[in-house]
Amino acid sequence: MKTKIQEKFKALFNEEGDLYMSSGRINLIGEHTDYNGGYVFPGAINFGIMAAIKPNGADKVKVFSLDLDEYVEFYLTEESIPEQHWARYIFGVCREIIKRGGKVEGFNAVFAGDVPLGAGLSSSAALESTFAYALNEIFNGGSIEKFELARIGQSTEHNYCGVKCGIMDQFASIFGKEGSLIRLNCKTGEYKYFPFHPKGYRLVLIDTCVKHLLADSAYNKRRESCERAAEAIRKNHPEVEFLSDAKRVWLDEVRGEITEEDFIRAEYVIGEVQRVLDVCDALERDDYETVGEMMYQTHFGLSHLYEVSCEELDFLNKLARKCEVTGSRVMGGGFGGCTINLVKEELYDNFIETAVKQFNEKFGHEPKIYNVVISDGARKL
Ligand code: ADP
Ligand code: MG
Repeated sequence: MKTKIQEKFKALFNEEGDLYMSSGRINLIGEHTDYNGGYVFPGAINFGIMAAIKPNGADKVKVFSLDLDEYVEFYLTEESIPEQHWARYIFGVCREIIKRGGKVEGFNAVFAGDVPLGAGLSSSAALESTFAYALNEIFNGGSIEKFELARIGQSTEHNYCGVKCGIMDQFASIFGKEGSLIRLNCKTGEYKYFPFHPKGYRLVLIDTCVKHLLADSAYNKRRESCERAAEAIRKNHPEVEFLSDAKRVWLDEVRGEITEEDFIRAEYVIGEVQRVLDVCDALERDDYETVGEMMYQTHFGLSHLYEVSCEELDFLNKLARKCEVTGSRVMGGGFGGCTINLVKEELYDNFIETAVKQFNEKFGHEPKIYNVVISDGARKL
């Protein structure tokens, strides 16, 4: 990828660019916790976006996307917003840096990547983080704080790409470290690295390649349930700002006051916040069996309490159990996308073979397989 990028850069701009890179991400556990002020537990992965970049002394940005074979130019003023979807991520990052008082001048860039698009590994965050990190180094001497770089990516999605996302994806892409997962408190922004060295295990994603349409409206409904549950609990415990602040027994106190549906949604969230903490403890003991069991519990909760799974995901989860996979759960918002699986090396081949074959027999298409390794996030090469 490096050579191809530099070759194209040379052909277009007659010199070599400096190389920057950032990564996609997985989330080991902590699902639907972000908007409830709870924990998420992501890490950067060995799939990323790489860019060659060099200032061009003009007020124009010239970018070539190798994967899409498209060239775009834009000025750094608000009116110059490009039509191409991919270029908006780069334009947005430039604008968000400038809005914060940072400096961006004209530059040339060529980029490419291997994060599968729209598979739930956050290729968009990898793209934003690559450019946010690079433009900070090139034009601002690295003076913009890392957390702010993540916010620049998030605001880019909000303001230029129409995606109202949380901070996790950009956070993981910017802060990611080889062999480490990062527990992020979505309420306070506090974070902590935990060792992730699953010796003898592999981490593999199975992509159902389906996306059911209910996702958006269901997501909003889940959020509303959580807000109603938190509000009910708050009457007895005013310190509860978000649902994740509540203890399980506090939820039981209001069982008669909220609907059964709101109750089971909240039950899932409060359980999930605790599971993240339990997984972190387990990792400090190198106890991957407990990690795996928690993943199964999360899947159960997402399927039966939060009700955001689907037939394809439940099928893969059941199959994982049958194949004695250590841990398996749906990753991401639900209604499609990937399962994330922690599997012993000696069971890996059988699991993948069985999953691909049986999934294909049942649903008429093969799932995609991504072997992931926890890797570094944004960096200069
Ligand atoms: P994801 O879940 O992968 O983040 P998104 O829809 O949020 O999915 O982002 C995908 C978009 O990011 C693509 O439509 C494209 O605009 C941009 N993108 C990601 N990777 C690349 C790439 N390698 N080359 C060009 N654009 C990319
Ligand atoms: Mg995205």
